[in-house]
Amino acid sequence: MSHKVAIIGSGPAGWTAAIYAARANLSPILFEGPEPGGQLMQTTDVENFPGFPGGIMGPEMMQKFREQAKRFGTEIVSERVDSVDFSSRPFKFTAKGKAYEAETIIISTGATARRIGLESEKALYGKGVSACATCDGFFFKNKRVIVVGGGDSAMEESNFLTKFASEVTIVHRRDSFRASKIMQERALNNPKIKVIWNAEVAEILGVDAGHVIGVRLKDTVTGEEKEMEIDGVFAAIGHVPNTDIFKGVIDLDEKMYIKTIPGSSLTNIPGVFAAGDVQDAKYRQAITAAGSGCMAALDAEKFLSEHE
Ligand code: NAP
Repeated sequence: MSHKVAIIGSGPAGWTAAIYAARANLSPILFEGPEPGGQLMQTTDVENFPGFPGGIMGPEMMQKFREQAKRFGTEIVSERVDSVDFSSRPFKFTAKGKAYEAETIIISTGATARRIGLESEKALYGKGVSACATCDGFFFKNKRVIVVGGGDSAMEESNFLTKFASEVTIVHRRDSFRASKIMQERALNNPKIKVIWNAEVAEILGVDAGHVIGVRLKDTVTGEEKEMEIDGVFAAIGHVPNTDIFKGVIDLDEKMYIKTIPGSSLTNIPGVFAAGDVQDAKYRQAITAAGSGCMAALDAEKFLSEHE
């Protein structure tokens, strides 16, 4: 059986696309994967999503999105799509070995926080190493932490962490930040924030202790290494779009994000649409992802009516 609309991914973009497609009588099937909900599952309070003046927890918000999509008849599959063949319509794909077909596809697989890439980082993840200050900052009351990165996220997370930590040090691999001026100034003017320029984390120390006790930093100019005692490492070094299964199938940009025609959700393959962080390295907000999910559903509906 060929579905009219298949949606891959279950963050705000995917659920919004499902709500719109279901209400348009397109009986969407949505693949939410084994860990549904996307990045909002890692956040605590969401205070900037209109309609929730008192804020809402990220996981609760995703639960509400899911309920709303289900209410209008979205079929939900809790598997990950593992391969796709978009060479002809109906498009073909598999999830846990089972084959599916759909007339249109909406890709909303999101992005994942980039990791530093050290074995010690992996071993100490959740034991002092984190990629989300909003989620884990609370655990670092009166502790010393470093934030790795020089973008807006690093600035924002450093400022946020000063609410808890006794000392926040930004470790950046170059001698200037790429963050916006206003965010840089906010961080640099914060008396609790220090910066170590031209340094990268060569090792996170504490694997034997079972928690972070320090880092070994390497000077990116001189190559010199030195150890620093700290209790926490926050990586704020950007995100990687979840596009592995689309490599060689659909047009991606140099950072592996899906290319969409500006002002639409259209990809280079007619009938395949993309929404949310998987095609947006810039805004990355729940509300913009939801908005683009709506666009994708409307684009799919239009495509189907033109290709009936
Ligand atoms: P980003 O702008 O890509 O910055 C990533 C930072 O991490 C860069 O400074 C980069 O260094 C560094 N980095 C990357 N890989 C590294 C590695 N392996 N080791 C050490 N350092 C590494 O990412 P982002 O800060 O997450 O921001 C993404 C987008 O979201 C941006 O467009 C940003 O403006 C936006 N954003 C906005 C806000 C806001 O306005 N409130 C908040 C957060 C994010 P280099 O500079 O040397 O490349």
